[in-house]
Amino acid sequence: MQLKRIKLAGFKSFVDPTPVPLPGRMVGVVGPNGCGKSNIIDAVRWVMGESSAKHLRGESMTDVIFNGSSERAPVSKASIELLFDNSDGAIGGKYSAFNEISVKRQVNREGQSQYLLNGTRCRRRDISEAFLGTGLRPRGYTIIEQGMISRVIESRPEELRVYLEEAAGISVYKERRRETERR
Ligand code: ATP
Ligand code: MG
Repeated sequence: MQLKRIKLAGFKSFVDPTPVPLPGRMVGVVGPNGCGKSNIIDAVRWVMGESSAKHLRGESMTDVIFNGSSERAPVSKASIELLFDNSDGAIGGKYSAFNEISVKRQVNREGQSQYLLNGTRCRRRDISEAFLGTGLRPRGYTIIEQGMISRVIESRPEELRVYLEEAAGISVYKERRRETERR
């Protein structure tokens, strides 16, 4: 599984639709302070279902919408789309047969949020289920931010176990068992 492109529109500092291609396995984003580098990471977390404004460095969930600048008026909605290469079938379940997977989230000023998987409206849960076992979750280990290494090292055994189970691909089965037990 590889993230091939991120499309940002109305999200934080990215007011106009901005495609960010990720052409290789290693891509660097450079630029002066405040130019929007971390906003790209926030975007990935947000699409994957982050529901805490604090974890997106804001105060409310609608803070992700471009709120205007000296030259531009605020906009009414934010949208992000991630495009994944899934030719290895890592994104599983009913999506494993798709070579490309698109995950999209939009939000408007009223706070109404919408998720789409390959163009079809879905629940936040459908996205987490499809990506279970890939490590890509809003706070999964695919995004390693400042301070995270020491957090992992210092985490309690039961917290560490969550990371290990995800890396070992066990979390998918545990989640399925929980589902079955709930029924
Ligand atoms: P650094 O190198 O300091 O880490 P950075 O490139 O990571 O900087 P970001 O934190 O991604 O920068 O971007 C911060 C910029 O995004 C600020 O200029 C801030 O005004 C802008 N920004 C954040 N939210 C919004 C919003 N809702 N509307 C407009 N601009 C926003
Ligand atoms: Mg930054």
